Amino acid sequence: MITESILGTDFLIKNAKEIQVVIDNNAPEIEKLDQEIGDGDHIFNIQRGIKLVIELEPIIKHLSMSKALNQIAMKILSGIGGSSGALFGTLFMTMAKVSNIDDGIDYKKAINMFVDGVEAVKQRGKADVGEKTMMDVLIPVANCLKEGVEKDIDLKDLMRKTIETAEKGMLSTKNLLATKGRASFLGERSKGHIDPGARSSQLMIKTVCMSILNT
Ligand code: ADP
Ligand code: MG
Repeated sequence: MITESILGTDFLIKNAKEIQVVIDNNAPEIEKLDQEIGDGDHIFNIQRGIKLVIELEPIIKHLSMSKALNQIAMKILSGIGGSSGALFGTLFMTMAKVSNIDDGIDYKKAINMFVDGVEAVKQRGKADVGEKTMMDVLIPVANCLKEGVEKDIDLKDLMRKTIETAEKGMLSTKNLLATKGRASFLGERSKGHIDPGARSSQLMIKTVCMSILNT
C-alpha cells in the first residue's frame, strides 16, 4: 500500500470534474433507469450535486480538508433533492468529522474516511445489501477497501479490485426486489431493472479508482 501520497482539496475538485464527464456521458442511461423504477429525477439530482461541488472550487481550495468536506456536505444537503441529497450529504459530512484529517491524508486514511462515511449512510437510509439501492455498491466497496487496508495490498491492485466489486454490486441489483426507496412501491415489478443509484455510485467509484490508477 502506498501511504506517502497526501491527498488535498485539489484531489476532491479534480475527481468531481472527472465524475462530471463520466456522469454526463451516461446520463441517458441513468435517467432511463430512474424512469423505470423511480420518478426519473436521479440524473438531475446527481448532475446538480456535481455542478454545485465544482462551483465551490474557489472557496474550498483555500480551506482545510475538514472545512472543505463540510462545505461540500452543506451544499449537497441544501441544494439537492431526493434521497440522494440526504445520503450523499451524510457521506461527506461524516468524512469531514474523521479525526486528524487536517494533518494530512494518505490513501489509508482516505479509505477509513470513506468506510466511516458509508456506515453513516447505511444508518441514515436504513438500507443494507440486497435491498436494491446504492448500498449494494457502497457497502461491498467499503468492505473491499477495508480488507485491502487490513491486508496491506498494493494500492493499484486494490483499485482494480474495487472497480470489479462496484460493478458486481451494481449488476446484482438487476434481479433484486426493491425493499427501500421509491422503487419499493413497485414490488415485484421492480425486478429486472438495475437500480439508478447503484449505477451512478458505481460510475463515480470507478472514476475515482481510475484516476488513482492513472497517477
Ligand atoms: P428519490 O428516490 O427520492 O427520487 P433519487 O432519485 O435522487 O431520489 O435517488 C434514488 C436512489 O436513491 C435509488 O436508486 C437508490 O439507489 C437510492 N436510495 C433510495 N432510498 C435509499 C435508502 N433508504 N438507502 C440508500 N439508498 C437509497
Ligand atoms: Mg428519483
